[in-house]
Amino acid sequence: MQKKKIIELIIGSNNQGKLKEIKDLLPKKLKIYTPKIFNLKSPRETGKSFRENSIIKAKFYSKKTGLICLADDSGLEIDILNKSPGIYSSRWAGKKNNFNLAIKKIYSKLNKKDKDWKTKRIKCRFICSLSIYWPNNIIKNVSGVVEGKISKSKKGKNGFGYDPIFIPFGRSKTFGQMKPRNKFKIDHRSKAFKKIRKFF
Ligand code: IMP
Repeated sequence: MQKKKIIELIIGSNNQGKLKEIKDLLPKKLKIYTPKIFNLKSPRETGKSFRENSIIKAKFYSKKTGLICLADDSGLEIDILNKSPGIYSSRWAGKKNNFNLAIKKIYSKLNKKDKDWKTKRIKCRFICSLSIYWPNNIIKNVSGVVEGKISKSKKGKNGFGYDPIFIPFGRSKTFGQMKPRNKFKIDHRSKAFKKIRKFF
């Protein structure tokens, strides 16, 4: 296990919303690099799980830069859609990262599956798998989950991705309506991050 505290790293993501949320979790004194600085495009996510994909990304950016890499693979699983979009969460938004499109796709699939879905509790969860890859090939992987339900309509402008349609259990607001600090108290990424905080 790595004992030395991490003082600099690259965050293995080109997703601006995610980059911001990961930066907010990390100590301010840390020197942070991003793939953009090195002109690096994202690797193909060929894994079959969040864990495999987060390791693929962390290894890719660490090997390309010689830096320690922290990478996240995350997504939304909706039970009645057979856990879709799951590891395809970002791909549902298309090349232009259009989450209006991805959310429309979810509503259209829910309407097809059950026209009365709005009268029911549509169970879902956000999952986050975080990996740290050290240049000496050591890997640490952790995960975090937040359970919730799908909102009947899009609400709120905060956060990113599927935040406007996710209502965590026990709350009435979507992540999109919550202040970032309130989202961070309960979300999947912060839960995973707590398990690797000791490295920073
Ligand atoms: P990837 O891990 O970069 O392949 O993409 C994860 C995708 O999952 C994001 O593009 C979002 O669509 C979705 N996602 C992950 N975490 C969150 C979150 O905290 N809020 C909203 N959407 C999320």
